Amino acid sequence: MIADNLHSILEKLPSGVQLVAVSKFHPVSSLMEAYNAGQRIFAESRPQELALKVPQMPSDVQWHFIGHLQTNKLKLVLPYVSLVQSVDSLHLLQAISAWAVANNRIIDVLLELHLGAEETKQGFTEEEILSIDSIPGIRIRGLMGMATNTEDMAVVERDFERIEGLFRKVQAMGLPDFDQLSIGMSGDWPLAIRHGATMVRIGTDIFGPREY
Ligand SMILES: *Cc1c(COP(=O)(O)O)cnc(C)c1O
Repeated sequence: MIADNLHSILEKLPSGVQLVAVSKFHPVSSLMEAYNAGQRIFAESRPQELALKVPQMPSDVQWHFIGHLQTNKLKLVLPYVSLVQSVDSLHLLQAISAWAVANNRIIDVLLELHLGAEETKQGFTEEEILSIDSIPGIRIRGLMGMATNTEDMAVVERDFERIEGLFRKVQAMGLPDFDQLSIGMSGDWPLAIRHGATMVRIGTDIFGPREY
């Protein structure tokens, strides 16, 4: 099942678009099914869950973090991940920088753009992203965004257009290594690909519904 789901998505992904398997709330046995079908990039959204799963999975898995990260949880996450996709504030970015410098690491991150209408959602504004400077210990690899949670694909498309436009703008500023646009989830990833996604983050379409 999981292997079939994975393969049918991979068949439709253009080359150059990475599939990030969002494995939050799913058991390690499900992750292993995806791993055995060839999947190597997995994403988790909760620090404790990530820290529990990492030692149970093969060491060639690349882990991404995609949830809200509190600065007091950095040590549960940063040692294990190849990319933090969900850097949603300058405060968090500075804390990651301090950890990276103290641990002699370079941490790859995406900046999360505040998209959609939800007031409570975290994320950078466009102005903040356009004025960001280089930061010690941090390599800013691109942008991440979650479209408005709606069935209305016109609204989702407007969100994707906005983040794609900003992505192109920052790229034109010549930021080195800035080459990743992470948009698209189970309901909307084909649309995200038409708007320049280089990574899609898919959970439900691979693993089925999550049990909370
Ligand atoms: C859970 C989650 C996803 C995956 O959602 P699905 O609808 O299950 O594909 C993608 N991105 C983020 C940030 C998530 O938290």
